[in-house]
Amino acid sequence: MLLLENIVFSYANSPVLKDVSFSLENGKHLAIMGESGSGKSTLLKAIYGLLDLDSGSIHWGGKKVLGPNFQLIPGEAQMKYVAQDFDLMPFTSVTENIAKHLSILESESHEARVNELLNLVGLTEYAQVKTKNLSGGQQQRVALAKALAQEPELLLLDEPFSSIDQFKKNELRRQLFPYLKAKKISVVTATHDSEDVLSYADEILVLREGTIITHKDTHALFQNPGEKYVATLFEHVNEISLRVLKEYAGENHTILVYPHEFELSAKSGVEVTVKRCFFKGGHYLVDGVSDLGHSILFHSKKKLDQGVLVYLNVPLQLVNSRIPKI
Ligand code: ADP
Ligand code: MG
Repeated sequence: MLLLENIVFSYANSPVLKDVSFSLENGKHLAIMGESGSGKSTLLKAIYGLLDLDSGSIHWGGKKVLGPNFQLIPGEAQMKYVAQDFDLMPFTSVTENIAKHLSILESESHEARVNELLNLVGLTEYAQVKTKNLSGGQQQRVALAKALAQEPELLLLDEPFSSIDQFKKNELRRQLFPYLKAKKISVVTATHDSEDVLSYADEILVLREGTIITHKDTHALFQNPGEKYVATLFEHVNEISLRVLKEYAGENHTILVYPHEFELSAKSGVEVTVKRCFFKGGHYLVDGVSDLGHSILFHSKKKLDQGVLVYLNVPLQLVNSRIPKI
């Protein structure tokens, strides 16, 4: 188990992590989300033992993680950390970069293992290419393969697909995360890309200015993000005053509604005038304005022209589940 208790960490007197505590069971995949500068990378570095904490403690498998002041070579043996910079040997081949991290004891099985890893990250054709001649995305794949060469118990990934193009990113995610799950490797991924998270993470921890604002099961958090900062990590979100939804006109609350959650009707509901309509492939994202003057983003299957009047409804059950409990 990974256990963080009351972590406080500052860079030169400016506090970055403020009393961070959480635990993660073995084999689970945790996503750390939060806007840029919220402390995600710093938290991963702390877990890996690259920082000396101001106070608090980190334990992995019952053993205390020590910072650089307390051990010669920073970093924990059973963990692997894939940083935002890739740390490769530029003048050696992809294969050598990976094989260097395999144990000497099992040298006869190296070739098979390297091939398995190349296949996993989709670099089979590049086995003999020097890493300096690879694209940023390909280098990021080598860094992933390297981290997995000697199977870690805990894998720390910092924005693991940030340099990889969209199409290949999705394919790699679909290969990598189920592989890690099957091998029962615990994973902590720092990301601001919800595509890294929704299909793959068991739980999500959200950081804002170095403080945990929520830590929940992925589905539960998406369904009930609680506040706009959290919901916008997943997608656009509307803060709708209940006054806008006519049935609740007397109630003085706002609720969060994702654009896909509105139901369009030809005759009844909140009256919305279309301002702009954006093609998104499988649907349109529509920017409209309600009769009370509020902006509303919603989805439509059909293209809607500027000035068209539509009626939006929010399912009653959804409204009830989002009304803040006092
Ligand atoms: P994130 O990964 O969520 O974008 P970081 O952990 O990189 O956030 O950074 C958190 C805060 O710490 C930011 O305000 C950043 O400017 C600061 N910071 C990060 N690295 C350093 C450093 N080496 N020295 C000083 N400040 C740093
Ligand atoms: Mg970062």
